[in-house]
Amino acid sequence: MPKIAIVTGANKGIGLEIARGLAQTAGVHTILACRNTQLGAQAVEELNKDVAEGSTIEQRILDISSSDSIANFVSSFKADFPTCDILVNNAAIAFKNADPTPFAQQASPTISINYLGTVELTKQMLSVLPPGARVDNVASMAGHLKILTNDEIKKEFTSPTLTEEGLSQLMKDFVSDISSERATDKWPKTCYGMSKLGVIAYTRVLARERPDLVVNAVCPGWCATDMSSHSGPRSAEKGAETPLMLAIDPAVTSNGGMYKCVIVIDWISIAAAILPLIMSLSRLPLLV
Ligand code: NDP
Repeated sequence: MPKIAIVTGANKGIGLEIARGLAQTAGVHTILACRNTQLGAQAVEELNKDVAEGSTIEQRILDISSSDSIANFVSSFKADFPTCDILVNNAAIAFKNADPTPFAQQASPTISINYLGTVELTKQMLSVLPPGARVDNVASMAGHLKILTNDEIKKEFTSPTLTEEGLSQLMKDFVSDISSERATDKWPKTCYGMSKLGVIAYTRVLARERPDLVVNAVCPGWCATDMSSHSGPRSAEKGAETPLMLAIDPAVTSNGGMYKCVIVIDWISIAAAILPLIMSLSRLPLLV
């Protein structure tokens, strides 16, 4: 029986490379969960040229901005498979710097897709994630806790009793405050950063609630993809390395961790922001 893996936003960029890595791993059935079916079909055709022994791939429609699409995806998955061994929450959006959309109008779509869509899909999949199943939440160092400067808010996001409901309410408060240009000094000036901060906080909450899983957040590093307007120094393939490691390496057993380029990051400490830099300047560049 092959392992069953789902990668969201797998039709291009880092998600496509994660799916490629899974397809090239023996004994994995990989579902490319895409909203763009044309690109998804092209991705399946491309990946099918080099699939490992006992591995297969298919595309299924999923738009994580739509509750109906999530519900349809999950019910068709549950009709066909008893369990999911690997869930890679990779799909996300980011407004470009040059985008004319006012900041106040960027909060709702960014949080809805990157945070709320990711959480909704994961919650609906929880009943089919057996002990040992892996959940990779593709986040970003842009979501490091240091972006919060308000100590009260910081405390809420790091509370050991924070629940998914409480966290989602905090994220909705952010959207409501930013959208109405209220309490703006309470929040950082980054919708994308806040969405990824939420994803990392959710990773920690889920790890606490489901200690039997291997749930981790991961920053792939700055990669040349459509999202970055192809400006990053890393390839999408390189960016996929750590998410893939978290998805398939049996040596990885951490639950609730945050990784960047193979290195574990301290999400709470400010020093974490410079740790990868120190590492890359010292003896660890081979790992990055
Ligand atoms: P891309 O923009 O190249 O790809 C994003 C993928 O997400 C696309 O397949 C896109 O589909 C999909 N997607 C977006 N919205 C939805 C949705 N509502 N439902 C389903 N799929 C959706 O970005 P990257 O490959 O660069 O990013 C992958 C992940 O890595 C993201 O989580 C990103 O935040 C993270 N990341 C990227 C960095 C970088 O430097 N590139 C740095 C740090 C983190 P479609 O083709 O239909 O738009």
